[in-house]
Amino acid sequence: MSEHVPLSTLTTLRLGGPAEYLVECTSTDVLVEMIRLLDEQKVPVLLLAGGSNLVIGDDGFDGVVVRIATGEITVTESVVRADAGAVWDAVVEAAVTAGVGGLECLSGIPGSAGATPVQNVGAYGVEVGSLLRRVRLLDRRTGETGWVEPAALGLGYRTSILKHSDHAVVLEIELDVRADGMSAPLGYRELSVALGAEQGERRPTAQVRDHVLGLRRGKGMVLDPADHDTWSAGSFFTNPVVPDERLGGVLEAIASRVGPDVRIPQYPADGGTKLSAAWLIERAGFAKGFPGPEAPASLSTKHTLALTNRGDATTADLLALARQIRDRVEDVFGVRLHPEPVTVGCEI
Ligand SMILES: Cc1cc2nc3c(=O)[nH]c(=O)nc-3n(C[C@H](O)[C@H](O)[C@H](O)COP(=O)(O)OP(=O)(O)OC[C@H]3O[C@@H](n4cnc5c(N)ncnc54)[C@H](O)[C@@H]3O)c2cc1C
Repeated sequence: MSEHVPLSTLTTLRLGGPAEYLVECTSTDVLVEMIRLLDEQKVPVLLLAGGSNLVIGDDGFDGVVVRIATGEITVTESVVRADAGAVWDAVVEAAVTAGVGGLECLSGIPGSAGATPVQNVGAYGVEVGSLLRRVRLLDRRTGETGWVEPAALGLGYRTSILKHSDHAVVLEIELDVRADGMSAPLGYRELSVALGAEQGERRPTAQVRDHVLGLRRGKGMVLDPADHDTWSAGSFFTNPVVPDERLGGVLEAIASRVGPDVRIPQYPADGGTKLSAAWLIERAGFAKGFPGPEAPASLSTKHTLALTNRGDATTADLLALARQIRDRVEDVFGVRLHPEPVTVGCEI
């Protein structure tokens, strides 16, 4: 167990004050025993794996940060199994290398396998929830471990019952894959255009992975320590879902700002219509790189939805920028943006 560890060294934003204690668990058995022990003693626990979806306050965390550092991955013709701490992109790469398909659209997403069900990670038309076969959990209320079906996890758009909850630890996941080495049906226009394919077509997994990684790099969405545009938590805001009864008023407010002939990106979603957070942020007046190169925290110069640390930022700097963006989008369009990352010891 280490003491006073700066959490900025463990998050992709490179932000966060000290952890009172940090313990690293490299085996699932040790992880289970550690959590049971800490829970028995009622010690505050923060689970952390890749630190790529966490905004931690400048005062850090008073308690024990449990770093999940397990890492085994096994691939068969029909199932990929990974320990919670396995690096997610290594899981995707192992599947592609073994010639099994299904995971390739989720290439390049930072973080761990165990965190993928937590917010039902998704990209390029695929969500992990559509691939999960089962998830092994430690139920912290009973101390018991067991496998659960994905239907029990309340998976939704960037959410599940595991997000913002201390009730369970993901220990391992299993994913269904295709044995024929072909991708999932392509469901995202930008990707099918890049591949010169039709929507719904399948392509060899390695080809799809290469294109996904290329598209993501162009947006600063593949981690690169030398590139401050990737010192982020990925998309900072989720795409807002506007309920039917409010949609007319919101579209009117948008049209009055951007003009009646501009096409507003909108997609059917559970509970209403999904709008593009990046589009709204840009139309509210925030360009890529806002507020400029001298600022400690700014929008990525490659993607309007990523808030980044330019090197010397504090969490307070980042949150001030987040509030400025959220508040102006709400003032102008009447739509409130909500953060996608989990906040610890701070609020937006
Ligand atoms: C450059 C960049 C690009 C990104 N692109 C995408 C994207 O395309 N799509 C997408 O969905 N996300 C994206 N993200 C967000 C992030 O990568 C994912 O949410 C990822 O799954 C987080 O994994 P992690 O291991 O880093 O989780 P952490 O940040 O360590 O933890 C996140 C949350 O999950 C909890 N947690 C972690 N592990 C477990 C576990 N085993 N059991 C229970 N709870 C746990 C933590 O306590 C915390 O609340 C991106 C992030 C970055 C930095």
